[in-house]
Amino acid sequence: MSKETHHFQAEIQQLLDIVIHSLYTDKEIFVRELISNSADACEKLRFNQSSGTALYQSEIAPAITVATDDKAGTITITDTGCGMTHGELVENLGTIAHSGTKAFLKQLAEDKKPDVGLIGQFGVGFYSAFMVAKKVTVLSRSFGPDEQSWQWTSEGMGGYEIAPAAELPRGTKIILELKDDAKDFATESTVERIIQRYSSFVPFPIELNAKRLNTVQAIWARSKNEIKEEEYNEFYTFVGHDHEKPLFRLHFSADAPLAIQALLFVPGRNFETMGMGRMDSEVNLYCRKVLIQAKAKGLFPEWLRFLKGVVDSEDLPLNISRETMQDTSLLQKLNKVLTSRFLKFLDEQSEKEAEAYAKFYHEYHRFLKEGVVTDFTHKEALGKLLRYESSALDAGKLTSLADYVKRMPSDQKEIYCLLAANRAAAEASPYFEVFKERKWEVLFLYDAWDEFVMEHLHTFDGQPLKLAEKADLNLSAKKEGALSEAAAKELSKWLKETLGEQVNEVRVSQRLVDSPAVVVDSDKFMTASMRRIMKAMKQDGPDLPAAKPDFEFNPAHPIMARLDSVRQKDAALAGSVAEQILDNARVAAGLLEDPRAMLTRLNSLLEKVLAKE
Ligand code: ADP
Repeated sequence: MSKETHHFQAEIQQLLDIVIHSLYTDKEIFVRELISNSADACEKLRFNQSSGTALYQSEIAPAITVATDDKAGTITITDTGCGMTHGELVENLGTIAHSGTKAFLKQLAEDKKPDVGLIGQFGVGFYSAFMVAKKVTVLSRSFGPDEQSWQWTSEGMGGYEIAPAAELPRGTKIILELKDDAKDFATESTVERIIQRYSSFVPFPIELNAKRLNTVQAIWARSKNEIKEEEYNEFYTFVGHDHEKPLFRLHFSADAPLAIQALLFVPGRNFETMGMGRMDSEVNLYCRKVLIQAKAKGLFPEWLRFLKGVVDSEDLPLNISRETMQDTSLLQKLNKVLTSRFLKFLDEQSEKEAEAYAKFYHEYHRFLKEGVVTDFTHKEALGKLLRYESSALDAGKLTSLADYVKRMPSDQKEIYCLLAANRAAAEASPYFEVFKERKWEVLFLYDAWDEFVMEHLHTFDGQPLKLAEKADLNLSAKKEGALSEAAAKELSKWLKETLGEQVNEVRVSQRLVDSPAVVVDSDKFMTASMRRIMKAMKQDGPDLPAAKPDFEFNPAHPIMARLDSVRQKDAALAGSVAEQILDNARVAAGLLEDPRAMLTRLNSLLEKVLAKE
C-alpha cells in the first residue's frame, strides 16, 4: 500500500485554521496535551494487558520519552502505549466525534481572541501541536499482534497523508518540526520546565533526553491506608515548597455531587505573620493527574489562602465550557464542597487532636475570623472553630462557644464577651463587675478584630452574642450603704451640669460593684474598641466625632457618697473630682486620648489631699 492523501473533516480544518494562526501566548500547553495523550495510550495498554489481551511486544513496559534537538529544531514525544492502527489514525487524527467539541469550535471561531488553552478539555488536544509545528509526523504501531506500522504526516492546511512505515516498536512517536518562532521548544531546559509544571504526576515514567523527570507519585489518587507518612511528607515538600512538616493534612475523595480527590495541607507556620506579605493559595487543580491550573483561583475562599495541595476532579473537562472555567458555577460548586469538607475536618481535629488544633488556632485564627466577617455561607461552621479565654477557665485555657453554651445557667439568655488588652485588664474592667457578682461566664477577647467577628456572627447555637459593655444587666442583690434614690437623682443632675457636653446622659448604674463609675458608648452600634480600630484605620478625611458616652455611676461607692456631700460645701473641689472620675472611666474604656490635662488636675488634687495632713 502506498501513500494516501486525506482531507480533514470540515470542523478539524476549521480548528486548525484557528490554532495555526492563534496568537495564544501559552503555546507550551501542547507539551501537556501530547504527554496526556501518551499517558492515556499507556493506560489503555495496561488495561488490555490486565484483561489478558495478547500484546505485541508485551515485554516493553508502558513509558514516555521526550527528545529535543535544538540543531534540527524538533521535539519528539514517544510512548510505548497502545499505538494506532490505520483505521484509528484516520478516525482519531482527522475527525471529531463528540458534539460538545463541535459547540466549542463554533464558539472559538466566533471569538476575537480565542482561548486555545482549553483545547485539551474538549478532546482535541492533539491539534495544539500545530500552534508550534509547521509539520507533524506521527509514527505508530498498534499493540495488536498482527498490525503494522504507519506514518501520518500533516502540515496542518490541506489535509494529511498516511503511508506504511518501516517496522516500529509498539506505540506512537510524534515528531514536531517547529516553526521559526517556536524553536525554543527544542531547548531541553524549556521543555523540562514545562513537563515539571504540568506533568509531574503522570503515572508513567517520563524521560527527557534520557533523564527521568517525574519521580513523585500522584499519591492523592491512591487509597489512604496504602500511603506511608514519609510519602505524604515528601509530597508536601514537593507541592508546598516547604521543608517543615505540615500542621494538618486532609486527604479525601468524594463522588457526589462532584468526583473529587483532594490532598490538602496546612503549613506549619503562618507566613503572613512572618512579614512575608499576603499568602497566595497554593492549591493546584488537576484533572486525572494532569495540571489544569496552578494556584487555581476561586477554588477556595480567600480566607483559606494558607492551604497548599492538590484537588483533582474528573468532572472538570466533561462538563466544562469556556465560561464555566472562569467565573463559573462548577468552580463555585467545587469551592463549596471543598470548603465545607475542610471546615468539618477542622472541627473533627479540634476534638481528636486538641493540641495540634490549639497550635493551628494560634497560627491561623485571624483567617478564620476573616472568614466569619466576609463569608456568610460558612459563618456558622466557622463559629464552631473559634476559641477564647473565659472568666470560667484558668488563664491560657481556651473554650469553644459550644462549651460556653453548655455551661450557661438556665436564666442566662445571652453569650457575653468582653474586649480587653489582656486577662488582667479584663478582670479589672468595671464592665466585668456585674458578671463576677452573678458568677456568669464572660469570654475575654484580646484581639481588636473580635468585636467585628462577634457582630457578624451575631448568634451562636441560637444564643445572641453580646458585648459586656452593652449588656443590660442589674446586680442580683441590693447594695448596702447606697445613696437614697432621691439623693442619687440629685447627684445625677449635678453631675450632668458639671460634666456638660462631655457626656451624653448621666444615670445611676445597676451593675457596678467596685468601681465608682463607667462610661458606656451612647451609640448603639459603636463601642470603645470599635472607635479605637476606626481611629487606627483612618488615614485622611474628617475626624471621627469625639465619643460622647453615657456616664453611669455607682451610688453605693464611697467616692460617690462623699462627692455628694462635698459638692454642697466645696463646689470647686467636687467639680475637679467629678472630672477626674470621668477621666478614670475613660481610661478604663480606652477612650482617653490626651492624658495631659488629666495629670495636671490629678496633681492639684493630690496637693489638696496632702495639704490636709
Ligand atoms: P483526546 O485525547 O482528548 O481524545 P486528542 O485530539 O488529543 O483528543 O486525540 C484524539 C485521539 O487520538 C485520542 O482520543 C486517541 O484515541 C488518539 N491518540 C492521540 N495520541 C495518541 C497516542 N500517543 N497514542 C495512541 N492514541 C493516541
